[in-house]
Amino acid sequence: MIPVRGYEGRKVAVLGLGRSGLATAQALQAGGATALVWDDSPEAREKAETQGLTLHDLTRQTAWTDIAALIVSPGIPHLYPDPNRIIAAAWAAGVPVDNDIGLFFRSFATPDWDAYDTTPRIIAVTGSNGKSTTAALIHHILHHNNRPTQLAGNIGRGVLDLDPAHDGEVVVLELSSYQTDLARALTPDIAVFTNLSPDHLDRHGGMGGYFAAKRRLFAEGGPDRAIIGVDENEGRYLANQLAEGPTDDRVIRLSVAEKLKGDGWNIFARKGFLSETRKGKQVASIDLRDIAALPGAHNHQNACAAYAACRALGLGPRPIEQALHSFRGLPHRSQIVAEKNGVRYVNDSKATNVDSAAKALQAFTNIRWIVGGLGKDGGIEALTPYLSTVTKAYLIGHSARDFALQLGDTPHEICETIDRAVTAAHHDAGPKDTILLAPAAASFDQYPNFEKRGEDFIRCVEKLL
Ligand code: ADP
Repeated sequence: MIPVRGYEGRKVAVLGLGRSGLATAQALQAGGATALVWDDSPEAREKAETQGLTLHDLTRQTAWTDIAALIVSPGIPHLYPDPNRIIAAAWAAGVPVDNDIGLFFRSFATPDWDAYDTTPRIIAVTGSNGKSTTAALIHHILHHNNRPTQLAGNIGRGVLDLDPAHDGEVVVLELSSYQTDLARALTPDIAVFTNLSPDHLDRHGGMGGYFAAKRRLFAEGGPDRAIIGVDENEGRYLANQLAEGPTDDRVIRLSVAEKLKGDGWNIFARKGFLSETRKGKQVASIDLRDIAALPGAHNHQNACAAYAACRALGLGPRPIEQALHSFRGLPHRSQIVAEKNGVRYVNDSKATNVDSAAKALQAFTNIRWIVGGLGKDGGIEALTPYLSTVTKAYLIGHSARDFALQLGDTPHEICETIDRAVTAAHHDAGPKDTILLAPAAASFDQYPNFEKRGEDFIRCVEKLL
């Protein structure tokens, strides 16, 4: 745990008592503050009480006397579509609003570090897609090279749950737009921006607000190195704004769309090869094509971002290359579950929107595509240009019939459940086929979350094989 610094002897309110809220309250107490906690849900409040935390009804008008700050969980809207009424009350009372990320950045460095040979560093990864994969890959490369490292943020472990840093440790954080939007301190040593596509627009008041939230990671503290995907206008704008000139190598530019020709520090992947150039000269090249856990251009983008972060830490190209080969991938993201009789079974249950499903359809060929669930606006209309790799679609879930109407000439079968879809696809498949779960839809019609949907796919595959 990271004891929170700066609130010793003061009262701090915590709103939202999920895993990160509870960890935040404990970390505040460990740092000498009094955490006063609240959640709309009586079950969540009860759980907090069993952990010895003090409940404090933040809906009361008198709740704000002597409160030094309000710490909010990422799931609670702080501005759009409307601010949560407790957050609005804190504004009215003049109480600063922050989150666990802000507390972490203020608390992580301690006087113990004076005795360390190498100061611990923080790498923060943001972007619309690929954050988890990139953050996990950086962590893997460092671990493989015997560098002390910890991984946290949006990826499962709350930031205040981390252990205090060892000498020379590198902490890798995955940060969502909700987290970067609200944090009052954001001072990573290295910051990564993978890419940008529309997502969570209701929570950010549109695309401009969404980009502004991510951009704070680069604007608040000014990282020593900014690693920026420049395949969208927003990335090009950000890279330009941060660099002093064309050769300023505090900015590392990334692309999977073009060969970057500038005189600065560039890393790009074309036709399966990663290249690093500096001052116009090639420094290194890596063949990414046979790295099983990183299929497709989207994963090559993640590989470029992770490579860049590790190069910025001073690792050589070859040790990074070796580590890329031993990466096993994350569950539910282009996860190769099995290969038998020339048929590959891939779980991309995290492809909950058309953008990530499009990437999956471009990463494989001869696809038997398991698709459907709780469809989003527009269904799979936007996937029409990517259907040439699909041999047949197996439709599941609530959206099955609607999606079928959008498939045009692509052969398809309504299967309703993953079990039936896997069985049908397995029966139809021949050598060189890929049976791919990439639903382009949320899971909530049939499962509690995308993880459970992916696990069900794996169970069905294992049953058949
Ligand atoms: P995030 O943490 O940003 O949601 P993940 O690594 O969990 O990203 O991947 C989410 C989904 O997006 C998965 O379906 C994955 O296959 C796909 N994906 C991964 N990396 C990228 C990328 N760089 N660009 C687009 N899609 C990606």
